[in-house]
Amino acid sequence: MFHNEIESTIKSAELTKSTEPAKSTEPAESTESIESTIESSRARRVVLKISGECFCPPNERGISMSSVSILANQVAVVARKGIQIAIVMGGGNILRGGQFKAANIGIQESTAHYMGMLATVINGLALQDAIELVGQPTRLMSAFAMDVVAETYIRRRAMRHLEKGRIILLAGGTGSPFVTTDTAAAQRALELSADVLLKATKVDGVYSDDPERNPQAVFYPEIPYEDILKQNLRIMDKESIAKCAEHNMPIMIFNFRRQGNLERALMGERVGTLIS
Ligand code: UDP
Repeated sequence: MFHNEIESTIKSAELTKSTEPAKSTEPAESTESIESTIESSRARRVVLKISGECFCPPNERGISMSSVSILANQVAVVARKGIQIAIVMGGGNILRGGQFKAANIGIQESTAHYMGMLATVINGLALQDAIELVGQPTRLMSAFAMDVVAETYIRRRAMRHLEKGRIILLAGGTGSPFVTTDTAAAQRALELSADVLLKATKVDGVYSDDPERNPQAVFYPEIPYEDILKQNLRIMDKESIAKCAEHNMPIMIFNFRRQGNLERALMGERVGTLIS
């Protein structure tokens, strides 16, 4: 059963309840049991955070369509298997607000963050074409109005796209400055009731220290949210970890450059580090 059908069942049940007393002696189906039907019947749904660095070769900037099409192919293969995929794009391959402000005294910090948000729209447009080139339908949705290139994000519409098998590309972060797309990804994972938040990065998962600088760094296959926050491990924004912890949203961090990792993670296999 699809969400909208269930929602209209809930609505009509509620309407009946408010206008006349129940005539049947059979116990009415409780909202709780309808909700558990939703949970058990719906397809796996994931929110995938793709950092800007996935849009270009290692140590480069900008957009390389060959990097983008590698991503697009992997995502499309999994979507064809019925997994519902929402992608939150980063923009760091083009511009990060904080860094840009630090290097340019003539710009206000908020302006720089809005520029960063626009960078995610550029990545979204590239990824959209690459995914559709391999035959998978998509919708690009922006956190702020940009009608000519993207639909404005509306949660219920986003859910409908997912149910119809469209990959949704969520651009513009949260639409507000001073945060990053990690926070947007946590926010969307929660409001879209995703099963998991996946973060594709260039490292294998969570380590006790930066593995690129410290060869003694210890890898954690799994780690509680609290330990990430206590040890100040910088794998994601603190806000996004705290938000997921508060609502028990599992996060999986994995290396997107290792062959097969992205598909395996999307399909529900354990790769990288599970934070829960
Ligand atoms: N950004 C923002 N609000 C948001 C999301 C992003 O202001 O909700 C800006 C911020 O300046 C950020 C930039 O957009 O640095 C690009 O996003 P991010 O740094 O998350 O990209 P990534 O590191 O994942 O490539």
